[in-house]
Amino acid sequence: MRALTIGRYQPFHKGHLNVIEKISKKADEVIICVGSAQVSHEIENPFTAGERIAMIRRSLSQNNLDEIFYIIPLEDIKRNSIWVSHLESMTPPFDVVYSNNPLVVRLCREEGHEVRHSPLFKRNKYSGTEIRKRMMEEDEWKNLVPKGTLEVIDEVDGVKRLNEISKNEISQTQS
Ligand code: NAD
Repeated sequence: MRALTIGRYQPFHKGHLNVIEKISKKADEVIICVGSAQVSHEIENPFTAGERIAMIRRSLSQNNLDEIFYIIPLEDIKRNSIWVSHLESMTPPFDVVYSNNPLVVRLCREEGHEVRHSPLFKRNKYSGTEIRKRMMEEDEWKNLVPKGTLEVIDEVDGVKRLNEISKNEISQTQS
């Protein structure tokens, strides 16, 4: 059985890792789609698709997750009605989709895919929005992400990038 899950992973955190661990126990192979692959260097989307792939790859191997994983970047498209075809064109065939995103669930079900909800793991704490906010406020965030993510963020000086982008975006909205 091959399962697919998709996220923006901005950044890849311990909630995401927990879900992927659970999916990998039920599936023979797992496709992890890195969504909104075209965006980076924004407050909501600070990291590139390549950086997010590196966070995931390292976090999986450091947690001894050695099952077959395909990590595939997927750009957004402007037409939701054909998004599932777009997704299918970029991935190996899959039997089930795991997601809690209402739009992903709806679009995949409309195209006849089986969709299962992935269990949420301490959502108020393990959330990309919360982690980015803490990074900008210099609050504690490092314990919310796996070591692999931490290493990649350090390597690309990600906190500095996010802080510089946020200053830029705020000054643009004020001018
Ligand atoms: P996300 O990173 O917010 O979440 C990914 C998955 O992880 C979700 O299913 C979420 O429920 C789960 N998750 C998050 N925190 C968790 C926690 N603490 N415990 C357990 N699970 C947790 O990403 P997302 O917004 O769901 O990603 C969907 C992607 O699909 C986006 O990139 C979006 O742009 C893309 N998309 C694009 C189109 C289009 O291009 N037209 C249409 C639909 C979706």
